[in-house]
Amino acid sequence: MSVTRETATTSARCSECGADVIVRHTVARRVDDIRWSASVHCLACGLRQESDDDVGDLEARAAVLAAHGEWTVALTSLGPRPIWVLRAIRDILGFWPAAARARLDRLAHGTRVEMEALLAKFVAEGARGACVRVDPGAR
Ligand SMILES: [Zn+2]
Repeated sequence: MSVTRETATTSARCSECGADVIVRHTVARRVDDIRWSASVHCLACGLRQESDDDVGDLEARAAVLAAHGEWTVALTSLGPRPIWVLRAIRDILGFWPAAARARLDRLAHGTRVEMEALLAKFVAEGARGACVRVDPGAR
């Protein structure tokens, strides 16, 4: 099972009236891309704000990781064309083949949505694997 979106909330102050507001953060997968978005609705003054970007600010990222955990991509097989997968790993993550082979069970860390989008790119090259939640106690 994979997820295509994760959400979390943080608190902030309304930029208009200063009242306490809840910011709802969403990280969503759209085909190959990841989009981070935030929305605020101030109950005191009615202000509504929406924003989105490619990366996600630190607060949004921390909130999603706290709510849903940190995930990693673990490949169990490079499939019939290992060089294709290794090339994708190098292009996306910057690991040369020897380094990649040494860390196939933990290629990258991030939100589940991000890791599933990453896994899909390697699966498209023939790899097999899974997104695995990182046990906070195991680090
Ligand atoms: Zn307000």
